Amino acid sequence: MIDGIVQIEGGKVTQVGTKPPRGVPITELGDVALLPGLVNAHTHLELSDRKKRLGKAGMSMPDWIRLVVNERTTPKKKLAAVNKGAAESLRHGVTTLGDIATYAPHDVNEAPQSPRAVRFHEVIGFSQARAPSAHGGLVKKLKLSKVEGASELDGTPLEGVSPHAPYTVSPPLLRNLVGTAAEWNMPVAFHLAESKEELEFLTTGAGGFQEILEERSMWDPWAVPRGSAPLDYLRILTRAPKALVIHGNYLERKELAFLARHRDALSLVYCPRSHAYFGHDPYPLETALSLGVRVCLGTDSLASNPDLSLLDEMRVTAAQHPRVPAEKILEMGTLASSHAMGLGHLVGALSSGRYADMAAVPIPQGVPDAAADILAAILADTAPVSQVWLGGTAIEN
Ligand SMILES: [Zn+2]
Repeated sequence: MIDGIVQIEGGKVTQVGTKPPRGVPITELGDVALLPGLVNAHTHLELSDRKKRLGKAGMSMPDWIRLVVNERTTPKKKLAAVNKGAAESLRHGVTTLGDIATYAPHDVNEAPQSPRAVRFHEVIGFSQARAPSAHGGLVKKLKLSKVEGASELDGTPLEGVSPHAPYTVSPPLLRNLVGTAAEWNMPVAFHLAESKEELEFLTTGAGGFQEILEERSMWDPWAVPRGSAPLDYLRILTRAPKALVIHGNYLERKELAFLARHRDALSLVYCPRSHAYFGHDPYPLETALSLGVRVCLGTDSLASNPDLSLLDEMRVTAAQHPRVPAEKILEMGTLASSHAMGLGHLVGALSSGRYADMAAVPIPQGVPDAAADILAAILADTAPVSQVWLGGTAIEN
């Protein structure tokens, strides 16, 4: 087997190689592959108190959204769910995650061992009448957060802005929210092109999403111009320092090419098992990657996914997209995701200067010695992450 050594000092990696350094204590890990801690680019931890997914497989997105908004919870339960989801994520080797938050981040009494989290403040306000207060509410939250000591990692903000989706945030509001994110140097996360019903809504202003907005007295016929398309929203998102385009299940080739042209700022987040739950058309992963789009991986929430294991998302990706190399899939679940949230220089790879966040996975029996074969074998296997480290500290399982 290939031997690897990761040298750690002060929570960060100082060297990666094959020769053991002299005069320092060494921890032997046995036959495992030591991966960078996994980075989950998209989840909603506040939905982690669920025992099973919401609704049924293959249901329409507007019907499922209706179930989500009708769920009743309390702030206390929400925060308990956030902690529960954080602990589950870490167990699965997720050491950094992007969480969409309707809770106040400062109310989270974080468990002592939690993954690093970028908390994206969710904003909803579809009608033109609601837009100013929705935007004002976000600015108020950011100011409050600053007063209370906004969380950051080596000076990089661990907060972001999440305009929810085209059927809950109008283009002018999106523009203002992205402007605010740019002012505060924060990343943006936006659900886009997730369902066919959303495209119908953008094109005609009608369909299931319009019905929901009407039911909730949020409908405004002038909020979105007829004949709109995801590209109109992508153009607005380029003004953010970093923006995550969540799902993008139905982006067209020209929109994927646009993402590729703006790959430093814009990243696409594929949530494989959530995608499968709704029975969407095949995901355009190979096209996106061949065009040069930065593609990340996310679990989405437990309302559409059975667990928060990013390794399982990587395994589903490998099974459903056999032409995508294993190394690429690993990158999607580590460095691509950390870069997408502005943390690429700090986490997401085992290299000198980055935090020593790591996940060990047992190597299946009888695998040839080459690293690429080992990785492919791990993605074809089912063994869970066996050990996790955060900043060089082993996590008690
Ligand atoms: Zn989501």
